[in-house]
Formats: sequence, structure tokens, C-alpha cells
Amino acid sequence: MFRIGHGYDIHRTVHGRPLILGGVRFESDFGLDGHSDADCLTHAICDALLGAAGLPDIGHYFPNTDPAWKNADSQLLLRRVIAELKSRGFAPVNLDATLIAERPKIAPHLAAMKAALAASTGLAPDAIGLKATTNEGVGDLGRGLALAAQAVALIRII
Ligand code: MG
Repeated sequence: MFRIGHGYDIHRTVHGRPLILGGVRFESDFGLDGHSDADCLTHAICDALLGAAGLPDIGHYFPNTDPAWKNADSQLLLRRVIAELKSRGFAPVNLDATLIAERPKIAPHLAAMKAALAASTGLAPDAIGLKATTNEGVGDLGRGLALAAQAVALIRII
């Protein structure tokens, strides 16, 4: 028995914060604004997993009004999401995510991102699909005002 979920997240780009995507810190002249580390790729994955289990979204579990999650490492959030699923009798099967960003290029960091996400989810790296596309210069994403991510997750009943 399998269940599928979808997640989407977007964060504004800002100066003066680190850029962390998929648990990896990028060399970058901009970062993402947010209460936690603002890792939109990991947040989309969290929401896909929670959605597959029919659970509330990431904002329910980690509200941006809670000081506990200020500058939080989103891999910790992802680990908590996996634990929540496990407590309800679900385990992840595979993930596939797309980052929508004019820059940076993620190719040089793909292996590290997969390794980080694999460590947080307990999945094998080859059960995690990661890719990026630009927004072809269109709209606010195209102008680099924000980075967005979409993800799907398949989970199984344990
Ligand atoms: Mg977010």
C-alpha cells in the first residue's frame, strides 16, 4: 500500500544570510529569508512527506512564531517529519524534487545534497531525485527575488 504527496515552498532571496539548499551550504552572495535556515528544497520535501501521510503542513509542526525553530537546521525538521511518519506507521519510499532558481547551479552540489537528504530520511541516495531549472527569466523567480521548490514523495504503510 502506497501513498503519494506533493510539496511546494518559496523563500525570498536576501543578503546577509547563508544559502542552504538540501542541507548543503552554498558559496553565494545571497541567502534565503525565513524563520529557520529557509532551505526551501527541504521544506518542499517535508510537505510532500507530510501530505502523503495526510498530515498537516510544515507550518503546523514548526511554526515561525516558535523561537525553537529560529535559524533551525531544516535537516532536523526533516528528521522530525520522518519520525512523525514512522510513529503513524509510514516509511518513505522515494522522493523527487525540483529547485526553481536562476542561480546557483546545483550540479556541483548534487551528490552532497543527496547524501544529506539520505542521511535525514534513511533513504538510499538513489531513491532521491534532485534537479533544478531556471524560470527562464520570467517573473519574480526569474529576476532572482526568490527561490522555489517542488517535491513529490512516495511513502508506504509499514
Ligand atoms: Mg519554507
